[in-house]
Amino acid sequence: MPDEAGKEEKTIVSFKVWNKEKEETELHALKRYVVEGKRNGPHVVVNAGSHGDEFLAIDAAKELYERLEPEKVNGRVSIIPEANIFAALKNKRETPEPEFELYESEERNMNRCFDSVDLVDGPDGNITERLAYHVLKLVVKADYCFDLHTATAPGYKIDQIRGKTNPEFGKDVLQVQERLIRNSGVEYVIKTPPQYIGEGVLAGVAPLHGVPAVTVEIGGGAYSEEELERYVTVLMNLMKEAGSLYGEPDTVKQKIYRDLEEVWASTAGMYEPVKEPGEAVRKGEALGVVTNERGEHEVESPFDGLVESVHRQDWVNEGTRVSYIAIKQERTFLEAVADAFRRLLRSYTARKATREREGLLKL
Ligand SMILES: [Zn+2]
Repeated sequence: MPDEAGKEEKTIVSFKVWNKEKEETELHALKRYVVEGKRNGPHVVVNAGSHGDEFLAIDAAKELYERLEPEKVNGRVSIIPEANIFAALKNKRETPEPEFELYESEERNMNRCFDSVDLVDGPDGNITERLAYHVLKLVVKADYCFDLHTATAPGYKIDQIRGKTNPEFGKDVLQVQERLIRNSGVEYVIKTPPQYIGEGVLAGVAPLHGVPAVTVEIGGGAYSEEELERYVTVLMNLMKEAGSLYGEPDTVKQKIYRDLEEVWASTAGMYEPVKEPGEAVRKGEALGVVTNERGEHEVESPFDGLVESVHRQDWVNEGTRVSYIAIKQERTFLEAVADAFRRLLRSYTARKATREREGLLKL
């Protein structure tokens, strides 16, 4: 039995960092908001803000904490609304540099470094990996993990729930994930196979420790109260399925996809999408148009599938992601490996272009 039902704000860890802009040392805390239920039940960890600019996901986590009544909760709910506190502070997707003089860091995308966390030897590596360590340390002791994400302006995507299908998770974990997904009330489901290289997402690592995990992405792009409400409803459904709350989750008829494929701009310019999220697309069909001084260039879909996300009118560089396509068929091992290499190369190209533009790279 829990000691006492109630709500409590706790500090997981504090970091002392040098703020180069302000020229002073600052203390920043990674927080967890705990709802201790009246009755026995599971420990659910709700993580948001690994990407610090995903406001809707961050606010949905905070809203969940506000609405949960300890008298009605079974077990414990630990909510981390801003997992990457440094990114959230600056409204950035990744750990910001050079605003803070942090540890040497190459990987600044927190939801790509959970696979490099060493739970035995303690926190190590750059600041992003240290944050990931503290989150994962909490998650591995829990019974469920819900990782919250959302679209960020100027992007837009379909509401979706994702679960990894790595056979290494074991049958029990996979079955629980399956039930969570089925009873989430989210229409689009993406069951992704292991990526083999450059995994590192929380929902790909937690299940390796025996903790069922799902990634939820609701709304975003154009932040609205209606989207926030939709997000909280999904979280309540998941909590009912997990046994944290009594009641039947609302279900919907689901459409199931096997993976997501990235599509990049092949040239720089202003990007205007032609296809909207939720629309079907055929291989070779135009997803959008890049306009620059040399004219208009169509970006074709390399796959048959469903448009999962788009960038609205925005400047793109060569290698900037403009869309994700949800595809029906699972990829083979070789395709997955080839894709991982393509991704690494593309993200390097895109990052280099961004750095050059920001004048951070000395040529
Ligand atoms: Zn995200």
